[in-house]
Amino acid sequence: MEKWPIGVFASIDAGLGVHLSVAQDLGISTIQLHAPHANNRNPQSAQQFLGELAKLGIQLTAVFGGFDGESYADIPTVERTVGLVPTDTRAERLAEMKEISDFARLLECKVVALHLGFVPHERDSDAYREIVAITRELCDYVAGNGQALHLETGQETAEALVQFIDDVAADNLFVNFDPANMILYGTGEPIAALKLLGDRVRSVHCKDGTWASQPGKEWGREVPLGQGDVDMSAYLRTLRNIGYDGPLTIEREIPQEPERQKAEIAGALELLERIKSEIL
Ligand code: MG
Repeated sequence: MEKWPIGVFASIDAGLGVHLSVAQDLGISTIQLHAPHANNRNPQSAQQFLGELAKLGIQLTAVFGGFDGESYADIPTVERTVGLVPTDTRAERLAEMKEISDFARLLECKVVALHLGFVPHERDSDAYREIVAITRELCDYVAGNGQALHLETGQETAEALVQFIDDVAADNLFVNFDPANMILYGTGEPIAALKLLGDRVRSVHCKDGTWASQPGKEWGREVPLGQGDVDMSAYLRTLRNIGYDGPLTIEREIPQEPERQKAEIAGALELLERIKSEIL
């Protein structure tokens, strides 16, 4: 694969991503896929989707799990509803994540990813030990499918994420780095975070945002790439310096406005190609 192929976050039947046709129209060669609903996760739909990808010459680089009942309405709601951290949905979501890994295997995809949720901070608490154990169980399972597990950044500081990954101690656990999320959640300056995470970063999002007036208490604002507080040139230079060669996957989370979403992804593509040509 060429260094830093451009990608886009895509969906089949749901989620925040764009339809495959958007990648096709913009000439984008890789996608990350938001996992489809359970009724579309079967061998027939996998075969059909693989056929479409082959026809379009698009490579699938990661499958992202997501769950019913998750809401990103505000930061406290994320804490309560997202990922494997909420205890009352944990068992069913762990089972679903394993099933998503099986579906990703049918799609011949070597990476599954998710927002784990707000990991508790007290390392000596039962709550922390439980989420470490469940993440290790999921890592073991996806390893059986020949896959790595990538954790989306945002809810933790980079320091806490490094500590968590070390505590899970699985050799297939890595990071999907999203620089805008560090800003939106108020968990740290993205370039410093990227340097600290270093070679744990095995996939990335290209997304931009602006800091909230009270970071960590309220949301920052997601904005088109190049218009926010992520220094995109410094971002790509830092990716080069940590030895990252993988796809640059554009994410623009405004699925309710598909025309604008496509136009702003086209703008992001142009910006990334220009910076690539300057620094590669
Ligand atoms: Mg992201």
